[in-house]
Amino acid sequence: MLQPVAVGHKTLADYTHICGRDLIAEIRELAEPLQGQRVVHVSATAFGGGVSEILYTLVPLMRDVGLECEWHVIYGREEFFNATKLMHNALQGAPQDLDEEQWATWLRYNEINADELSDGWDVCLVHDPQPAALHKLVPEKAKGWIWRCHIDVSTPNPDTIARLLPYIAHYPQSLFHMREYIPAGMKGKVNVVPPAIDPLTPKNMALSPEDGAFVCGQFGIDVDRPLICQVSRFDPWKDPLGVIDAYRQVKESMPNVQLALVGSMASDDPEGWDFFNATVAHADGDADIHILNNFNNVGAIEVNAFQSHADVLIQKSTREGFGLTVSEAIWKGRPFVGGNVGGIPLQIEDGVTGFLVSSPEQCAERTLEILRDPALGKFLGRRGKEHVREHFLTPRYLRDYLRIFNELRAT
Ligand code: UDP
Repeated sequence: MLQPVAVGHKTLADYTHICGRDLIAEIRELAEPLQGQRVVHVSATAFGGGVSEILYTLVPLMRDVGLECEWHVIYGREEFFNATKLMHNALQGAPQDLDEEQWATWLRYNEINADELSDGWDVCLVHDPQPAALHKLVPEKAKGWIWRCHIDVSTPNPDTIARLLPYIAHYPQSLFHMREYIPAGMKGKVNVVPPAIDPLTPKNMALSPEDGAFVCGQFGIDVDRPLICQVSRFDPWKDPLGVIDAYRQVKESMPNVQLALVGSMASDDPEGWDFFNATVAHADGDADIHILNNFNNVGAIEVNAFQSHADVLIQKSTREGFGLTVSEAIWKGRPFVGGNVGGIPLQIEDGVTGFLVSSPEQCAERTLEILRDPALGKFLGRRGKEHVREHFLTPRYLRDYLRIFNELRAT
């Protein structure tokens, strides 16, 4: 019943010139003792959000270096995803915990998936809290277990984390984006490893300015007027309403500015549509605010085009586990303004690789500063891109996983 996800083929050698020979050689060396190992990634969805984005690249690269790697998506119905969305919000600090029935729902679906998980794995790599109980329920199905946390659990709802802890604490290896996210009481080896983006995908490959403008033009953007853009799911933590407020402030001084809010709807995110509608209502019919989603055919190339063409890219989150959109944005060499929260300051050094802000007002001020000074935008963009090259491209992430697989083998 766990659904295997079909991923394309990727070749590590193709990354050599973008990431450097040394890293590629190190990866090959680390992969040597792992040849033929059976690795399964287990996650909640194959579509939408950062986790699936990462696995579409990581799984093929793990195969390319010699692992027998698969990605399976757990089974769940609406009641399960309603409970896990609540859990996600509570772990990021929302006051509402799951009620008894929702906890029971979460566990029941974990039991179903635990039964259905095939066995004989060398490594089972469980992503995020949705399937987190698997290790406790069926430890015998894999020799090594890893829990990968993709969210910001620095200030969780105390009841929620206390209830989840017995299910995550005993993973022999776990990974968090930042040290601040590690909950007290983890028993295994805890690794601080941020994720990464794939520079060779349609979303991140180099797109010419002409192609970028052409694509944006097809969505009604006037490509001769300034554009600010945020690419994000429609989620309160991503603060699209705050982005609209900031845009309105910019527009007072620069009336020709336009805003694009580009957001895909994830299959495990039942709140998404409500919040999408709230965002449309907040835009209040302003013809210069373009609200687009994957149902308007905004796929990877389109996200790339918006990121490559926009004059300022925004990620005004109020919580952000890591924020792949941040690395994606600055990889395009575009100036960036983002919330000073979660994984964003890991990627942005204020004033060097972009600007960090804490309110819609600050966001508007920094955005205007860049719009008025293209040389500043260029400076930030160039620095930002090199920072991503050094720290946030997939081969580095692959290397970090291979190191952990080797440690698991040795225990
Ligand atoms: N994304 C997309 N289309 C959209 C909105 C988002 O493809 O309309 C992608 C975005 O490019 C990024 C991922 O979804 O790769 C979001 O990951 P991030 O870590 O920024 O946030 P999450 O959604 O996981 O909270």
